[in-house]
Amino acid sequence: MTVIEDQNRMLIQMVKEFTANELAPLDMEIDQKGDYPAGLFQRVIDNGLLKITLPSQYGGAGFDYTAAADALNKMAIGNASMAVTLEGHFKTIEQFTKYGQPSLNDKYLPSAGHRIFAFSMTEPSGGSNPKGISTRAVKQGDNWVITGDKIMITNGGLAEVYCILSKTEDDQMAVFVVDKDMPGFQFGKREDFIGLRGTPVGEVVLDHVVVPADHLLGKVGQGLEIGDNAHADARVLMGAILAGIIEHELGIAINYSKERKALTTPLYQLQVIQEKIADIAIARQNTRALYQKGAQQKVANQLYAETAAMAKSYGSRAAVRSGDEALQVLGGYGYSREYPVEHLIRDARAMELAEGTIEKMNLEITNAEIAK
Ligand SMILES: Cc1cc2nc3c(=O)[nH]c(=O)nc-3n(C[C@H](O)[C@H](O)[C@H](O)COP(=O)(O)OP(=O)(O)OC[C@H]3O[C@@H](n4cnc5c(N)ncnc54)[C@H](O)[C@@H]3O)c2cc1C
Repeated sequence: MTVIEDQNRMLIQMVKEFTANELAPLDMEIDQKGDYPAGLFQRVIDNGLLKITLPSQYGGAGFDYTAAADALNKMAIGNASMAVTLEGHFKTIEQFTKYGQPSLNDKYLPSAGHRIFAFSMTEPSGGSNPKGISTRAVKQGDNWVITGDKIMITNGGLAEVYCILSKTEDDQMAVFVVDKDMPGFQFGKREDFIGLRGTPVGEVVLDHVVVPADHLLGKVGQGLEIGDNAHADARVLMGAILAGIIEHELGIAINYSKERKALTTPLYQLQVIQEKIADIAIARQNTRALYQKGAQQKVANQLYAETAAMAKSYGSRAAVRSGDEALQVLGGYGYSREYPVEHLIRDARAMELAEGTIEKMNLEITNAEIAK
């Protein structure tokens, strides 16, 4: 085993233990309360989980994307909400390391081990179609003045550093880094979403927030490119989370089918139940293969956006469908809030929307195939 393989193995072991001890026991409570219990997020920080992908020069653990994706996969088996909180953070850090000037990275990345970062594109006037956003950044001397309203932002309210997609001209966009402590910045409404109920998803409002020129991420005009790149990075990790949700659904279906009997026969011995379990297992394996391929392509500096879109497009549908199959295996109990299956379906459903809808991803996949 190489040193890197050994380090990856230790990371996965640590994440599995944290998940088993700290997250899985709270999975139902997080869904029912619609928030993380007090102190849980601090334990995520204390255990170094925000630092997984942060480069070592900024005090991070510097794991590559294959390891990070596998780590979120294991976490999502116990609790998908926290895995999505970390996904939002990791994909944002990726944009700093790819596009950030050294002075910006030196200023912000050392804090990324204890402060959450978020990426903000969506607005009331533009989700799937970011050219429709209204947020404006106007150059004033050495500064930019930003005004706008971002909604449905993963970790909105929890995150402290926000990348904000803004228009600089009617047909030109850029991404700026905004700190929650800057005058004119405030948190708005938290969404009351039906799934991933632990993950805060909320609004951030910018009223003439003044940011220095070096808070520009990349260059003026690169806004959409950075947004697309953030989507691709997020989709790899969401594929990993979806494979974790399917694994969770599979475990519930298998355990129940061993315990429950149809008169004297355990359910798993019935062919109709075997078909459902086999379908869930195949979905888990396909989703895993897609996210791991996407992560490997990214690490190898190959094109990975199409595979990433496939991982999330296929994985989100498969996780919802597999949850439905698992619910059926559990019969009436599966339909009860006392069992976790129904919330796994709601959790998975979010990923048919977040980081690009299925329709947008399938359009991108089709365009990529036609261009080959
Ligand atoms: C859990 C969650 C987390 C999120 N986190 C973030 C985040 O961190 N940052 C962020 O910026 N946003 C985030 N979002 C917002 C998300 O990116 C948007 O909801 C998504 O892009 C869709 O935009 P919309 O809601 O405005 O729907 P619309 O764009 O209005 O789409 C409505 C319907 O029309 C279809 N449609 C629209 N335009 C097209 C088109 N051109 N081609 C084909 N079909 C189209 C869509 O597929 C959809 O079915 C999050 C959303 C959720 C649910």
